[in-house]
Amino acid sequence: MSKVFVLDTNHQALDPVHPGRARLLLKAGKAAVYRRFPFTLILKRAVEHPTLHPLRVKIDPGSQTTGLALVNDASGEVVWAAELTHRGQQIKQRLDQRRAARRSRRQRKTRYRPARFNNRRRRTGTLPPSLESRVSNVLTWVRRLSRLCPVSAISQELVRFDTQALEHPDIEGVEYQQGQLAGYEVREYVLFKWNHQCAYCDARAVPLELDHIHPRSKQGTGRVSNLTLACHSCNQRKGDQDIRAFLREEPERLARLLAQVKTPLRDAAAVNTIRWALYERLSALGLPVECGSGGGTKCNRMTRALPKAHWLDAACVGKSTPQVLKLRGIVPWKITATGHGSRQMCRMDRFGFPRTGSKQHKRVAGFQTGDLVRAVVSSGTKQGTYVGKVAVRSSGYFNITTRQGVVQGIAHRYCRLIARSDGYSYHLGKERAFPPAT
Ligand SMILES: [Zn+2]
Repeated sequence: MSKVFVLDTNHQALDPVHPGRARLLLKAGKAAVYRRFPFTLILKRAVEHPTLHPLRVKIDPGSQTTGLALVNDASGEVVWAAELTHRGQQIKQRLDQRRAARRSRRQRKTRYRPARFNNRRRRTGTLPPSLESRVSNVLTWVRRLSRLCPVSAISQELVRFDTQALEHPDIEGVEYQQGQLAGYEVREYVLFKWNHQCAYCDARAVPLELDHIHPRSKQGTGRVSNLTLACHSCNQRKGDQDIRAFLREEPERLARLLAQVKTPLRDAAAVNTIRWALYERLSALGLPVECGSGGGTKCNRMTRALPKAHWLDAACVGKSTPQVLKLRGIVPWKITATGHGSRQMCRMDRFGFPRTGSKQHKRVAGFQTGDLVRAVVSSGTKQGTYVGKVAVRSSGYFNITTRQGVVQGIAHRYCRLIARSDGYSYHLGKERAFPPAT
């Protein structure tokens, strides 16, 4: 089971405890709830010189979803795991929307102002907003976790495949030359270079095999530059023919493939902006950062017979991964970035004209849109108990998004705060049994 974080009364992070232990602490009045998400207790006393077991934050950054795992390297125990969904495209949409609204307003209201089009300075080293948000999301979580538990190191997947290892297999020793790891790095690389599809019939989502462009039986090498992807039937049809003979009928495809073969390794390597930016900022946190490759992660995951999931990938990042990962009962949190609300003053109709009055205050009666509340309505047509995210209205009658749907017009006096909006929404992922039942 995911453990519960514990702080002492001076906000010093202690070892996370089992949920049962946490319940006892709460029952005995020795601790109070400090945070709901992630669930954290604060002790009512200070702990002098606690014995701490260092944890490692492991990250598998993705463009949609990032896997996070807290692993105890010494015992192999996964203490906590989550899958963080980014806003990405939503940010771009919002910015486009804002641009359109401003353009429209300028046409209607501020035509008399002098043109203003070339007066923006682009700061160097900044990322586009949608990428920046992904990097910041991960950084926020690493910072949060290191405040809540004794984090001593970070592991991050930096590259899809280790190009160094592909080109100079000898530098990493015998493991890369004939070990499993070599196979995984090569496969990841070839899949990426050939776009996850059969080179001969463009089939996707079928099992793909590695195909030697210049066949092995005719002295073709086993180097990555001689490899491509083929579906089973194309691979069988090609057999030991040379690519030129096999694609006699399709000169266009042949020319395209031969051109792609020549693309050098470094151009095809994923120079992933988000990952490198994240790496730089993680390094600045002052904790040792270990980098892993996608091929290495996959190898670690396969040798430990784990299914594909973002949080499991995260737990398998890097060479530090323990031989046995203890995952029993771990259910990853699904965390979704929701942002911190909108700064738009009023809603528009579909023609871009104001539809509502301008928003006066973000906070109404102490509540803010996105806060998690519990409303117990004692009388009237809305009688009942509602738990969910609140959307505040200046009238004082709020909307609450519960699991069953949106309930409108709940007066603020019935609402009790459970958790402040912190830019993320949370729910528990589907329970997976570990080890899988046989
Ligand atoms: Zn095919």
